Amino acid sequence: MSDATREIEALIELMARLPGLGPRSARRAVLHLIKRRGQVMAPLAEAMAGVARNARECAVCGNIATSDICDICSDERRATGEICVVEDVADLWAMERGQSFRGRYHVLGGTLSALDAVGPDELGIPRLAARVAQEGTREVILALNATVDGQTTAHYIAEALEGTGVAVTSLAQGVPIGGELDYLDDGTISAALRARKRF
Ligand code: ZN
Repeated sequence: MSDATREIEALIELMARLPGLGPRSARRAVLHLIKRRGQVMAPLAEAMAGVARNARECAVCGNIATSDICDICSDERRATGEICVVEDVADLWAMERGQSFRGRYHVLGGTLSALDAVGPDELGIPRLAARVAQEGTREVILALNATVDGQTTAHYIAEALEGTGVAVTSLAQGVPIGGELDYLDDGTISAALRARKRF
């Protein structure tokens, strides 16, 4: 038992459900918040309430937005004819951090899985095909994880888009920047060898 009141204990329990926070770090975080409630906790609570109220899925791409259409989809400068398909919003954010993709996205929200009964409709694959036709998309870039489910899904999408005239490409797999061969797993080395290019 701790000395915290029931209300504070409830807060700690909620915080402990966050990814990366266990009961100990949740307790520490809550204590920190309470000590700095004016500067940190009150603005945090306000920001959280706002996002909880307004967060939704972008009706076009599935990105998380605070309006019906996300900032990327409503940015005319990003109508480049390229759609990058990712599994999750976290992957979209990772792509955006790279700052080299200027097109738009399609967020699947998962991968095809017979086990979990996730089919093409749940992933919005028909919606993607409709976008390709409507937006005159020239290239669909599959940026899916190099897992069995990710690659199964990639093949399914490529087949679904066959005959639309759009070029379907996928991210190259290989040696990461700064990576040393000796530390790579066999699969990565084989993929890098297959994706080799003229020096
Ligand atoms: Zn969007």
